[in-house]
Amino acid sequence: MAKHEKTGMRRLSIGLRLTLWYLVIFAIAQLVFGAGMWFILRHNLYDLVDDELESQVEDLKSFLQSQPKDRSIAKLKEEVNETYAIEHSGDFLEVYAEKGELIYRSAFLQAHQAVLLPPEQVQQTIIRSRRIEGRPLRFILQKLEVNGRVYTVEMGAPADDAVETLSLFRSYLLMFAPLLLLVAAAGGYWLSRRALSPVDALVRTAREVSGTNLNSRLQKLETGDELQRLSDTLNEMLDRIETAFMRITQFTADASHELRTPVSLIRTEAELALRRSRNEAEYKESLRHILLEAERTTALIEQLLSLARTDSGREKLHLQPVDLRQTLRSVVDGWQQVATIRNLEFSARIAASDSFVMGDDTLLRRLADILLDNAFKYTPSPGSVRLSLEQRGESVAITVQDSGPGIAEEEQSKIFERFYRVDKARSRAQGGAGLGLAIAQWIAVQHRGSITVESQLGQGASFRVELPMTAAPVQNPLPA
Ligand code: ADP
Repeated sequence: MAKHEKTGMRRLSIGLRLTLWYLVIFAIAQLVFGAGMWFILRHNLYDLVDDELESQVEDLKSFLQSQPKDRSIAKLKEEVNETYAIEHSGDFLEVYAEKGELIYRSAFLQAHQAVLLPPEQVQQTIIRSRRIEGRPLRFILQKLEVNGRVYTVEMGAPADDAVETLSLFRSYLLMFAPLLLLVAAAGGYWLSRRALSPVDALVRTAREVSGTNLNSRLQKLETGDELQRLSDTLNEMLDRIETAFMRITQFTADASHELRTPVSLIRTEAELALRRSRNEAEYKESLRHILLEAERTTALIEQLLSLARTDSGREKLHLQPVDLRQTLRSVVDGWQQVATIRNLEFSARIAASDSFVMGDDTLLRRLADILLDNAFKYTPSPGSVRLSLEQRGESVAITVQDSGPGIAEEEQSKIFERFYRVDKARSRAQGGAGLGLAIAQWIAVQHRGSITVESQLGQGASFRVELPMTAAPVQNPLPA
């Protein structure tokens, strides 16, 4: 119990676990989405700045093209300085002529000499971001061929707007993500609670089911899903348990009732005998009655115990190849004397060849005894009882036939039920409690066989047990 509670505490409820999983997946999705959007936005914003840079380089190129071809470097320097010192696009510009001679350098770049690559290292177009004095800048470094001269141009443009937009976007993301996550958590929890609320209802009703209200059922769900299947299955299980439970209750009631009769007979007999003094013969007669009832009670208790054991599954069969011929011969021997006393004709016809079945010898004996006991009990003298054992293909059949009163058709299916007797008073007088055939049927079924009755009222009855045959066991040859 303690262990159970402990694990119960450590384990979260399904609803909570679902919510947590949902949250984790949602958070990952949010992260991937946010990061993806940020990168796309950044790429696009920088593209805009780069386009601007490229068009400024284009302008510079046109300007250089517009200069006469044979201009000296010194003159060119002058021209460029004149134009670009006042132009906005010259704020972050450096231009070198072929041999690394500086043509123009803006005041800003003058102040930050080491910012850019030396011109001889610029081979192809390079674009890069730089942060100078806290200002985000974007630079393009490239070679320009104009009028037969190759220039190296390094031109920059501020990227404040792009960076600002990006950081704004990021702070929006960071602000709304937790909010969204919170909403998702609440939604997820609500959903899982809703989906699982029938489980709570099932648990509540299941708790109330006990031995005294086994007829109550779990709430019938109409959700058409796994939970409905679960509740339906549990209800079917309750049906079966209720049936079994009622059978046991009925059995207990019937058994007590059956036991009460012989005990009260014994009491009455003893009380009568003690009421006044009697002679020895009378006492003997009373004791004989009491002994008879006690014997019947013992037999009844034996039957009840045997049925109780079969119900609880404790009656174990000791299966082994049994030669039915041998078993039945010894059973028949035991009944010869009864036949003589009852003045009934008794004959046994037993098959000539081996008739082995996989079975429990004791139980098979009991089965034959029950059938013969009934035949002798219910057949009046003069009459006959016949037992036969014959082979039928893969099975053997034991038949017990009598010339007694027979059993009406409508009773034939009921006589195998527990405590069922066709004529209560008469059977009772014969000492039966209606359990014999129930036990016989159980034995036949346990041997994968069947028991049937054929009878017509007034024309005797014939009980037939069919059992599957098995091969005769191989005899170990005796050592020489
Ligand atoms: P019991 O111990 O009372 O004989 P059984 O279960 O053996 O109980 O039999 C059930 C009922 O079937 C009996 O009470 C009897 O009415 C009927 N019955 C069984 N065998 C025969 C038979 N050979 N002839 C007529 N009736 C029989």
